[in-house]
Amino acid sequence: MDERTGLPVVGMIGAGQLARMTHQAAIPLGQSLRLLAERADDGAALVAADVVVGDYRDPDVLRAFARGCDVVTFDHEHVPNDLIRALEADAVRVHPRASALRFAQDKRAMRERLTGLGVPCPRWAPVTSAEDVARFADDTGWPVVLKTARGGYDGKGVWVVADADEAAKIVALDAEFLVEEHVGIVRELAAVVARSPFGQGAAWPVVETVQRQGICVEVIAPAPDLDEEQAEEAQSLALRIAAELGVTGVLAVELFETADGLLVNELAMRPHNSAHWTIEGSRTSQFEQHLRAVLDYPLGDTTPTARVTVMANLLGGPEDVVPKGIDERVHHCMARWPDVKIHLYGKQFRPGRKVGHVTALGNDVATVRGRAASAAAYLMNGDTAS
Ligand code: ADP
Repeated sequence: MDERTGLPVVGMIGAGQLARMTHQAAIPLGQSLRLLAERADDGAALVAADVVVGDYRDPDVLRAFARGCDVVTFDHEHVPNDLIRALEADAVRVHPRASALRFAQDKRAMRERLTGLGVPCPRWAPVTSAEDVARFADDTGWPVVLKTARGGYDGKGVWVVADADEAAKIVALDAEFLVEEHVGIVRELAAVVARSPFGQGAAWPVVETVQRQGICVEVIAPAPDLDEEQAEEAQSLALRIAAELGVTGVLAVELFETADGLLVNELAMRPHNSAHWTIEGSRTSQFEQHLRAVLDYPLGDTTPTARVTVMANLLGGPEDVVPKGIDERVHHCMARWPDVKIHLYGKQFRPGRKVGHVTALGNDVATVRGRAASAAAYLMNGDTAS
């Protein structure tokens, strides 16, 4: 408890853009996040007052950080699960709990659990050798998708492999693998929900996530022309997964739309890129909702504020430097698209790195998409051709 405010203290492990935007949502709730940052210049560490710089893999650092917190939550899923369990054994309130987070940390554990629940997933198998992969491909055909069970993000740790020779090179790497059938994806969707320890659940509309080279570049809310029944199915599925796995906080369920229906790709148990649009596009943003959920407050209304909301990511590149004239571009972007909202994360520019996003709202998908894409392209490249 913070003596000055009479309110509980929320600690977040990790100080990237998700923490930065959660901190922003915390302010009107009388909150100020306590952060465990890797570096003093992490995006969120630059804007929050109560920052500890330390290694989240060090049990002593974690224990000391958690001591003053009423609840501990995460901006990423890299904290080793046994260390989270150790915090729980010390009676620290951690949300999501280690027992749930496990399924966002390990794709093999996730596939096993979801398959057990009868949730539709791509066909998959754990593999340790090229022979295992080839045996799997006998059933599904080539290519197949090899994934590391842990540690992947933005398409790193995912390989589409054409034959057993390629598979052999990858499984030789020092990691645990699973193989999946190569799904015919019509498009990628995300169903984002929140669940509180009390058991309340809330869902946002299902969105389309547009991917380029394994990185999400754009999110359209709601997913255009998605069949109403499928949208409801995806929302119910996400709420059911949250309840069955005991997720607390925000849960993003990444989905593949295929000719034969929806399949679950993966789970994230934290605010997620596919719901950044909720900052302007919903009565309650995912960041406020995550805080409400981990504090076991009642959840907020998720009604959209516009018929269509589009979020476009700002991806750094091609050089490791701040684009020349970025300040001038911000100025011109604001002048040209006064309705577009700019979010910059205070991160160092690196090729392909998410350094910010823009959001546009309106009535018509093509127009709103066009404005968001043009504003994003202009900010990053100085031109409007995306
Ligand atoms: P990450 O953990 O890096 O986000 P994902 O498992 O989400 O990895 O995979 C990244 C991307 O690779 C997905 O967004 C999708 O485009 C593609 N992909 C993943 N699994 C499959 C699959 N089984 N079939 C076809 N494409 C896939």
